[in-house]
Amino acid sequence: MEDLRARGISDERVLDAMASIPRERFLDRTFAARAYEDSALPIGEGQTISQPYTVAYQTQALDVKPGEKVLEIGTGSGYQAAVLAKMGLRVYTIERHVDLLEAARKRLELLGFHRVISRAGDGTRGWPEYAPFDAILVTAGAPDVPESLTKQLNPNGGRMIIPIGGRQSQKMYLIRRTGDEFAGEELIGFAFVPLIGAEGWTI
Ligand code: SAM
Repeated sequence: MEDLRARGISDERVLDAMASIPRERFLDRTFAARAYEDSALPIGEGQTISQPYTVAYQTQALDVKPGEKVLEIGTGSGYQAAVLAKMGLRVYTIERHVDLLEAARKRLELLGFHRVISRAGDGTRGWPEYAPFDAILVTAGAPDVPESLTKQLNPNGGRMIIPIGGRQSQKMYLIRRTGDEFAGEELIGFAFVPLIGAEGWTI
């Protein structure tokens, strides 16, 4: 956690949640020994668990409060969903790879995160049945902001954190909604796997 602090992560709720969740439990045995490196690691299907700094950065930027409803696009290993649940959020998460989702669900159950609600599918369309969301966290790189997601942000101060750019590298954006107004702030650069879907990249 000291490494994260040194890189500007100061939200104690984020640091506490991450410190309390065993990241090795979200990895295959082959990679478990590397769980506490600050790097993205393979989780199958050509996908990765985000590096701890990225998880901390996106979570801190969303400035979430306990009890808020958050939608994560890209469940992957389930680690980010666990961090959000540990912070007292009502978590909804979508993953396009069914096998990854099944593995993530098992891990979350085993670790006691029974309230995370998840489904397989194209997250670029969001989850209209549960909208609006106080926060939306996109964990894959998009060519542009999916309109379906902006529509599902809470008009009363909803926030979305999303990497936007090319297939190889992106800039992080924080988007805030007030009524029908959207304000976007460009943050720092990252490199995510692509967001694939109807309002993302084609395969
Ligand atoms: N949050 C994850 C974790 O904690 O392990 C890491 C996510 S990984 C960097 C990005 C994930 O987004 C991949 O598992 C990928 O399959 C998924 N993904 C890509 N496009 C998607 C889409 N349209 N809908 C849902 N998931 C998507």
